[in-house]
Amino acid sequence: MKFASILIVTLALVVSAALNSALAQSAGPSAAPTASVIVHTLPPIGSNKPFDPQKAVSAYLNRVGGAARARSDAYFEGGYVLIAVDALYAIAVSALLLWLKISARMRNLAQRLSRSRFWQAPIYVVQYLAVTTLLTLPLTIYEEFYREWAYGLMNQTFLQWLGDQGTGFGLTLVGGTIVLTLIYATIRRATRTWWLWGTGIAVVAMAFLMLIGPVFVQPLFNRYTPLPQSPLKAQILSAARANGIPADNVYLVDASRQSDRISANVSGFLGTLRISLNDNLLHKATPDEALAVLGHEMGHYVLDHGTRLLLLNSLLFAAAFAFVRWGFARLTNLFGGSWDVRTVDDPAGLPILVALATLFFFVSTPVSNWISRSTEIQADIFGLNAVRKPDAFATVVLKLSTYRKLDPAPWEEAIFYDHPSGRTRIWEAMRWKAEHLNDPDIKAGPQSPQ
Ligand SMILES: [Zn+2]
Repeated sequence: MKFASILIVTLALVVSAALNSALAQSAGPSAAPTASVIVHTLPPIGSNKPFDPQKAVSAYLNRVGGAARARSDAYFEGGYVLIAVDALYAIAVSALLLWLKISARMRNLAQRLSRSRFWQAPIYVVQYLAVTTLLTLPLTIYEEFYREWAYGLMNQTFLQWLGDQGTGFGLTLVGGTIVLTLIYATIRRATRTWWLWGTGIAVVAMAFLMLIGPVFVQPLFNRYTPLPQSPLKAQILSAARANGIPADNVYLVDASRQSDRISANVSGFLGTLRISLNDNLLHKATPDEALAVLGHEMGHYVLDHGTRLLLLNSLLFAAAFAFVRWGFARLTNLFGGSWDVRTVDDPAGLPILVALATLFFFVSTPVSNWISRSTEIQADIFGLNAVRKPDAFATVVLKLSTYRKLDPAPWEEAIFYDHPSGRTRIWEAMRWKAEHLNDPDIKAGPQSPQ
């Protein structure tokens, strides 16, 4: 799946960023607190120590130490290497298909099976997706099963995991074949401007996935049941009403089936809108922590982050298509004879398109991470304002640190983090708290560590 088709992978990434966008994914320091210190050094008469948000951040971060910290750092830093490994592996698979003329043979088979140029594309694409998925399977097993299991993040047996992979492959096969068939049809009609039309098709496909994902795709992997009545459920629905979110129920997802990761979600449009929280969040977090996470998720909905992600990513897609178009011409001039691929409307050239797109998205990792991370920061700030639980937000961020390094260097966060780091998020919360110290609910709330 890492590989199948860069289009599908990127779509999946974008969509999962938009849909899953749980607090879940990154934790580290980034924007190191440089803001002004609000409190005077002399404590006001009659109070204890003044609240120092920077000290509170450090005290929170110090709660996760020793083996737990080393483990999550190692897990997350290993991910940096895997970004490069995935890209190199994908390019190597493309090279193999081209130089051994496997791609040309798959195209020849498609031509024998159908005279229609329209139908040759999907016949080729199905073979391509099957072959690349198989060739990439060893790496997928290592990354997504073995490594997760070794770090204690996997709750599935190998067979259960493989079953989910099979479902995912089925979806990729259908979605990838439709999208790539449409793109090839466009290439044949608009030989100069196909990259623009291709961008349009990719963006429409992305929007479609965002629309149907929560309602039709996610239930293929997990069960959604209405959350039983509880004070927490009432608070969640109250926060939703207060922020204009038309939801009348909250769903519980059995995410512990796959892993222990904490997550929640507000997704969908109009009739498909749903608020869901996963069972890990419900069982591992306090009600206030769950509410803090839901506040963040509501931010994605209210701030219309689907549109933001779609627009920003469409710019990235347009650049990718333009690069791929340019690179394809150069590479086929040099090697087209050896590969038996001459023109861009030949499906046998798909591995070239994929290799170039892989290179593009590898190099633009910091850009796509910025698109996601800046969106997540907005949702964090919305959540703090909406539910006013800065300390619960800080502690639930610590609970996310099993799979995201809490305290990275600023450059690390800028390049590798698709969500803000733990340090950044706790800083957001303590910075917010420092400006609300005299509000009655904050005064009556928990003390931050110092
Ligand atoms: Zn989010």
